[in-house]
Amino acid sequence: MHSDLINKIEKARRYAAEPERFQVQQLDVQFREANDHVVRLDGERWTCDCHFFHSWHTCSHVMALQRILAPMLTSEARHANGFDELVSEEVALV
Ligand SMILES: [Zn+2]
Repeated sequence: MHSDLINKIEKARRYAAEPERFQVQQLDVQFREANDHVVRLDGERWTCDCHFFHSWHTCSHVMALQRILAPMLTSEARHANGFDELVSEEVALV
């Protein structure tokens, strides 16, 4: 294999182990279930097309992505609405 490509593959492995080096700025994600939903991040603003999000400005889909992508999100995007931290603390108390 070409040595340049081998170097890139090794670099990719190192980068993959350091997700905090990446910062997600825009994202469209389809959540698959009986009723699919589209979750979107634009800068630090999350949206989801599910019913719950319309009332609460966050939802299980957004909160799940905040957890999955945490190392790659800005602090604002990670804790949008402060709701995620609040729920985490409540769950920890249960
Ligand atoms: Zn949702």
